[in-house]
Amino acid sequence: MTETTAATAPHPVVVPEPLLRIGGRAVPARSGATFTSVNPANEEVVAQIAAGGAADIDAAVDAARATFDDGAWSQMPGAERGRILSRAADLIEQHAPELSALETAEMGKLYADTVAGDIPAAAASFRHYAGWADKIAGDAMLLPDVGTQHRFGYTLRQPLGVVGAITPWNNPTVVAAWKVAPALAAGCSVVVKPAEDASLSTLKLADLLAEAGVPDGAFNVVPGLGPEAGAALAAHEGIDKITFTGSPAVGKTITSLAGEKFRKVTLELGGKAPQLIFPDADLEASLPWIAMGNFYHQGQVCAAGTRVIVHESIADQVVEGLVEFARGAVVGDPFDAATTQGTIVNRKQLDRILGYIDKGRAEGAELLTGGVRVGDRGFFVEPTVFRGNNDLTIAREEIFGPVATVITFKTTEEAVRLANTTKYGLNAFIFSQNLSTVHSVIPQLRVGTVWVNGWGVPDPSLPWGGREASGIGRELGRSGLEAFTEEKTVHLGY
Ligand code: NAD
Repeated sequence: MTETTAATAPHPVVVPEPLLRIGGRAVPARSGATFTSVNPANEEVVAQIAAGGAADIDAAVDAARATFDDGAWSQMPGAERGRILSRAADLIEQHAPELSALETAEMGKLYADTVAGDIPAAAASFRHYAGWADKIAGDAMLLPDVGTQHRFGYTLRQPLGVVGAITPWNNPTVVAAWKVAPALAAGCSVVVKPAEDASLSTLKLADLLAEAGVPDGAFNVVPGLGPEAGAALAAHEGIDKITFTGSPAVGKTITSLAGEKFRKVTLELGGKAPQLIFPDADLEASLPWIAMGNFYHQGQVCAAGTRVIVHESIADQVVEGLVEFARGAVVGDPFDAATTQGTIVNRKQLDRILGYIDKGRAEGAELLTGGVRVGDRGFFVEPTVFRGNNDLTIAREEIFGPVATVITFKTTEEAVRLANTTKYGLNAFIFSQNLSTVHSVIPQLRVGTVWVNGWGVPDPSLPWGGREASGIGRELGRSGLEAFTEEKTVHLGY
């Protein structure tokens, strides 16, 4: 058992004012409505949170527009905006234990993982984009003369304006940071609608950004239900862009709502990533990564590598290793340092996962371990490993739970075909020591990101995003910043 020291002891859950943050003020919903946030580990109430609706979204968008137009943020010198964002990064780091406790209490991710992983990653995003704030530039070039007139051309990158951001529950602060930090660095104002299962850390983020010096109205948060607050934000006349992370089904709705008004859209959606394991992989080093690709955060990760596509010559070893990891998991209280598997986010998601497991069995997949709920209080599932094929429902659909399917291949061509036979295209993993295999397979994979011999949280300096049902556009890196700018072309004759 891991010992809990003062340094690792979880922070108590300190609920920030469970109200909307609009124009620098904490306010109730205009309707007075609230919704209940439940701790999935013990089914107790964490907080009663103001549930924003269309009128609150109007108010938040108005506040964001007023601040954008008065230039308090959008016209602030980039270096000064950068200083404030850098201060925000420091504050997020300092409050990592408090933010982590909120996330663990609301959605059951291991406290040890949020405090050491997610929250530092959110801070890193703010720090990265703080450095960009005074380096947002266009291109310049001499153009051919027209008659006697000389020509010169350049592009300007201007802030887009007001950005609506809708975020998921599985990594609330870090996903918000991937949107908010570049949008603010570019000079935009933002309205965030966090997921109803995990809103509190985003409310705390608003308080930290205000403390860092982000002016009133430049950052607003309206918690509420998706079809109400979320849909009102996506459909709003007053926004210039909507950036969404969540399921493909809701992504479609967002696209049509925003498309009606010709608003720009970035979508970060689901995944069903293949983990390709070639015969020359260093299995001892790779197995922990392969297992983590399935069971980290109970598989509630868009990047999860739940299709384990392994060469037939080493399939038994991989299966054995995965099963050993699954059976060795300590499922329980996500605040306990000894726990390695926390909870599923809510009862609906628990039932959905168990339904997929039943379907896997019914379709003839071989259940090697797991497959059942743990206990009857809280939403825990045993890490589960199936052996099957790529046509099974469990190998085609995103389960968003700790359910691995092992599939075998004979040739590299077959491995690539299996990897690409999916509607998703977020990321893929390759495990191989052979540079020729690695470099010949990478260009053939229809995904936004390839991880070789390991994986982790996307780095803020490199783009992240998917194809087809995994999304449109990119977050992070230079692309993630430029997505919040409007490019204007100037032709200048003299
Ligand atoms: P979800 O689509 O159910 O909800 C996401 C957000 O959309 C929430 O804030 C929700 O309230 C809101 N919403 C729901 N219905 C809406 C509507 N009709 N109009 C507007 N907004 C609405 O997704 P989730 O369950 O919160 O998150 C899990 C999904 O997110 C998975 O598919 C996962 O793969 C994906 N995800 C993707 C990434 C990525 O970077 N690609 C990262 C994290 C999660």
